[in-house]
Amino acid sequence: MDFTVLTLFPEMICAAANHSIFKRGLDQGLLRLNCVDIRDFSTSKHRQVDDYPYGGGLGMVMMAQPIYDAHQHALSTYHAMHKPRTVYLTPAGKPLTQSMATDFSHEDSLVLLCGHYEGIDERVIEEIVTDEISIGDYILTGGELAALVLMDAVARLVPGVLGKEGSFADESFSANVLEYPKYTRPPQVLGRAVPDILLSGNHKAIENWRREQALQRTKSRRPDLLGNV
Ligand code: SAM
Repeated sequence: MDFTVLTLFPEMICAAANHSIFKRGLDQGLLRLNCVDIRDFSTSKHRQVDDYPYGGGLGMVMMAQPIYDAHQHALSTYHAMHKPRTVYLTPAGKPLTQSMATDFSHEDSLVLLCGHYEGIDERVIEEIVTDEISIGDYILTGGELAALVLMDAVARLVPGVLGKEGSFADESFSANVLEYPKYTRPPQVLGRAVPDILLSGNHKAIENWRREQALQRTKSRRPDLLGNV
C-alpha cells in the first residue's frame, strides 16, 4: 500500500514511520511512503504557504495554491495509474474508528493532507479531498501526528504487515468489544497471580472466560460499544 503525505514537516513523518512494524512493512515492500513538502510548491519568494483569513480573526490559513500544486505533483509522480482517496486530517472530520481503518486498508494507496495554523482554505478541500477524518475531540497543532495515527492503524491491517504475531479477531473493537486482559510469565508478579483458569489447559473454558472478561470490561468502560454488538 502506498501512503503519500502532503505536509509542511516531512521529517516528522519520516522519523516516526521508520520504526517497528511500519518500518518492517516498508522494508518488505508491503508499504511505501512518499512525503511531499507543501512549502516546495509555494510561489512566493519566502516560501510562504499561509495568509490572513478573509473576514478577519486570529491566526493564519493555509493557502489553496501550494496545496493544490503539491497534490497534483503527488498524483502525477506517485499515483499515475489511478486516483487515490485524499484524506484531510481535521478535528472537523468523522472520528476515526477501527472499521474505517479496515475500509482504508483495502485501498491500494492513500494521500494524506496535514493542516497547520488555523486550517486550510476550504476551496482546496472541496477540490481535492474525498474524506475528512478526526483522530479525536481535541486540537493538535498540526495534522502530522493525526496522519501517523491513521497510517499506523491502517498499515497493520495490510495483509502480511503484522505477520504471524498479529491476531485481529480478538482485538478491541473488532467485534465491538474491548479485548480481555492479558498475562505473561511469571505466574506470580508483584504479589499478584495469573487467574487459575489460564493455567488450566482447558481451551474451551479459557475462551469462555475471555469472552466474559471482554464483555464485563466493555460494559464498565465503554458501554456505548455494546449498542453495536
Ligand atoms: N482551527 C481549527 C479548528 O478549530 O478546527 C484547528 C486547526 S489545528 C490548530 C491545525 C491542524 O491540525 C488542522 O488543520 C488539522 O490538520 C490538524 N488537527 C488538529 N486537531 C486534529 C484532530 N483532532 N484530528 C485530526 N487532525 C487534527
